[in-house]
Amino acid sequence: RPLVGNLIGEGHVNYVLMYNMLTGIRVGVSRCQAKIKRPLTDDDFTARHKFSFDIVGNELTPSAKYDFKFKDYAPWVFRTLREDHFQIDPADYLLSLTSKYILSELGSPGKSGSFFYFSRDYRFIIKTIRHAEHKFLLKILKQYYTHIQENPHTLLSRFYGLHRVKLPRGRKIHFVIMNNLFPPHKDVHETYDLKGSTVGREYPEDKAAQNPRAVLKDNNWIKRGKKLEIGPEKRALLTEQLRRDSEFLERISVMDYSLLIGIHNLKRGNRDNVRRNTLKVFSPDLPNASSIRSSIKSQAKVGAHSPEAIAIRKAMRSSDPKRLGEPSRTGVDDSSSFHLPEEDDHRQQCLFYQDEGGLRATDENDQPMGGTIYYLGVIDILTPYNWVKKMEHVWKGMKDDIHKISPVPPPEYAERFFSFMKGIMRGGELDERFKVE
Ligand code: ATP
Ligand code: CA
Ligand code: CA
Repeated sequence: RPLVGNLIGEGHVNYVLMYNMLTGIRVGVSRCQAKIKRPLTDDDFTARHKFSFDIVGNELTPSAKYDFKFKDYAPWVFRTLREDHFQIDPADYLLSLTSKYILSELGSPGKSGSFFYFSRDYRFIIKTIRHAEHKFLLKILKQYYTHIQENPHTLLSRFYGLHRVKLPRGRKIHFVIMNNLFPPHKDVHETYDLKGSTVGREYPEDKAAQNPRAVLKDNNWIKRGKKLEIGPEKRALLTEQLRRDSEFLERISVMDYSLLIGIHNLKRGNRDNVRRNTLKVFSPDLPNASSIRSSIKSQAKVGAHSPEAIAIRKAMRSSDPKRLGEPSRTGVDDSSSFHLPEEDDHRQQCLFYQDEGGLRATDENDQPMGGTIYYLGVIDILTPYNWVKKMEHVWKGMKDDIHKISPVPPPEYAERFFSFMKGIMRGGELDERFKVE
């Protein structure tokens, strides 16, 4: 069930873990935020900050309800990503994630066993990840950073932080903080998770009728004959960005990612909204909004908003031609002649999240139509093609078409993914691989 969360209060099985995660984030992030902004160095990509929490507290960490250890990975890189590339206000970020009002839990929607939590305003998602995914993100962090820098309009998951909590008996939990693709104050009437694979990629249609929050898959999309209703201009822009993003995913050798699409129907509006009611107090021990705000304000004087910091940021901006978002010109499809617009100096707001946080449907004259807003992005991008996936490839390939199963080598996955996504846009056509009866 996407987007509707359960409350986490004291007594919940994951309460202690959540408390520790949030306390760690609050202390870790504000520690980094308190320093004067400076340009990134190579060492920042491998840096780790460690914190040890206990009931007593010490000069580095305030006292906490439980004993645990917290590790903040590459804090300067994520700070720079948040502030310079994703336009996240530091105060908003901390407030949303760690003030005393809750988080709600989405549970474990995928097969992987990862848990998802929403920040209290639904802007951010905390996803627990496997150790392998964690190591992988660190390994490609520099490439990811460069891709984000060169592609202000990227559709890839926006990672805002990477952390680890270690509980006293040694259990280690890794997690990332990322963007919620879906709007906090709007109902999403249909959700699709699309890979370009057609084997086992179907949510039972009879069950879908009863569950408007089901996450539908490739075969549901194909059988329903759906199209992304966007005009030539948005088609070209989206195609170009998807091409660049899938080239990147091929380069870092991952697969199993998907394009998540949420569809909001303006005529249906937000009648069915249940989310607003789920906001309740998470923990009375976490600081309240005004105390977080005032501590950020006092840090800001020496931190991110100091004249020095602003000057450094300006200097970095003007000296880096890569930040202009020039498209690469290796592709031969019809969109390669299309320029993604230059980023705005102040807010390089993502093109695809411009219409009420999403992408408005348009007709063939590029005029708004049909009362539809799409929310889309490429998610689950940390799965390398390792030996487990190679085994799955061979195993599943014996039973089904080896080119239609989900686990295929990254170059084939990227090509198939891109080709499928072009095919689902209005005017596009799905080739033989994507035919289902
Ligand atoms: P698996 O590996 O089995 O596919 P996973 O645990 O890695 O699953 P994801 O594929 O990342 O999980 O996500 C599962 C579902 O959670 C998605 O289909 C989507 O409904 C929801 N979801 C994931 N990321 C986001 C996001 N950034 N914004 C909104 N919803 C999301
Ligand atoms: Ca997935
Ligand atoms: Ca996954």
